[in-house]
Amino acid sequence: MICLGIEGTAHTFGVAIVDENKNILADLRDGYTNEKGGIIPQDAAKHHHNVADKLINDALKQAKITFRDIDLISFSRSPGLAPCLLVVKEKAKYLALEHKKNVIGVNHCIAHLSSGLFWTKTRDPIYIFTSGANTQIIALEGNRFRIFGETLDIGLGNALDKFGRGIGLGFPSGPKIEELSEKGKYIQLPYTVKGMDLAFSGIVTEAINKHKKGASKEDLCYSMQETCFAMLAEVVERALAHTQKRECVVIGGVAANRRLLEMLNIMCNERKARFFAVPLKYAGDNAVNIAWQGILEFKRGRKNEIKTLDINPNERVDDVDVFWT
Ligand code: AMP
Ligand code: MG
Repeated sequence: MICLGIEGTAHTFGVAIVDENKNILADLRDGYTNEKGGIIPQDAAKHHHNVADKLINDALKQAKITFRDIDLISFSRSPGLAPCLLVVKEKAKYLALEHKKNVIGVNHCIAHLSSGLFWTKTRDPIYIFTSGANTQIIALEGNRFRIFGETLDIGLGNALDKFGRGIGLGFPSGPKIEELSEKGKYIQLPYTVKGMDLAFSGIVTEAINKHKKGASKEDLCYSMQETCFAMLAEVVERALAHTQKRECVVIGGVAANRRLLEMLNIMCNERKARFFAVPLKYAGDNAVNIAWQGILEFKRGRKNEIKTLDINPNERVDDVDVFWT
C-alpha cells in the first residue's frame, strides 16, 4: 500500500509518500513564516493553497511514481486552524475524485503520537507532546489515549513564540530563543504547575514585562527555557510514577530544543526510565506522520470517506477510539 499524506493544520504545509513497509518515498514541506511573528490563520491558509499543487507534483517526482501508484490519500482533518484544515480537506477531496482514490482524514496529534512508535524503539511510553499549539502528557490506556496533564492556556511552542514576538524575535522564535539562551543567566520567573497541569501565559507576560524594564534578551531566553522545561519535566515525572510506565518519548516541534531533551533525559535516567526522542526532522509537523497514520487506520478497516469528509478544529486525542494498535 502506498499512501500520499497531506499535512496542513497550522504553519507547515507538507506532502509525503510512504509505503506500508515504512519506506519514505517523498517528504516535502513548505512553511508559512511571518516577519512580525505569530500565525495569521487566513494568511497561512492562503500559503497552503498557493504551494499545494507544486508540492504534490514534486513529491510524486521525488518518489518516481505517478498517481496511478497511490492507493490512499490521508490528510490532517483535526485539530488545527479552521481555514488551514479546510484548504487541506478540499485538496485531498479534489485529488481523490480526480484520480479515483480512497481518502481518509486523520487526527494530527494522534499522527504525532504514532510517529513516536514509528521512529523509536518505544512500545508503551508516556508521550510528551509539545508542539506549537499543544502541550500534553499522554499515555495509552485500553483503547483510548488518556491525557494526564496539559497546558491550561497556550502550548509551550506558542508561549515561546509569543514571548519571542514580545521581545522582537520574529516567528518561529523557538530556535532563536535556544541560541540566545546559551549566553544567558537565570532570572526568576513564575513557575506554574497546577496539579498535573501547566500554564504558560503568565510567564510570558512577566518575561515581556521584565524585558521592558531592561532585562536582557539572553537572560530572559535562558530563564524562559529553564522555567518552562522544568515545569514540563515535573509533570512527566509524576505521570511516570503514577502509571508505572518505564519509557518516555518526546514529540512536537519544541522537541527540537537540546536543553529540553537534556532535562527530560536526566529526569528519566534518575527514574530508570528509557528516554526516546523522535528525530529532529520529524519531531515537528510533517506529512510522513499523516501518511503513516492513514496506512495504520486504513489497514485496520477504515473505509473510503469521500462522501463524509470533514474537519474538526478542536478534536482531542482522547476523543478518538484507538483501534489500530
Ligand atoms: P510544531 O507545531 O510541532 O510544528 O512545532 C512548532 C513549534 O516548535 C513552534 O512554536 C516553534 O517555536 C517551536 N520550536 C521549534 N524549534 C525550537 C527550538 N529549537 N526550541 C524551542 N522551540 C522550538
Ligand atoms: Mg504538530
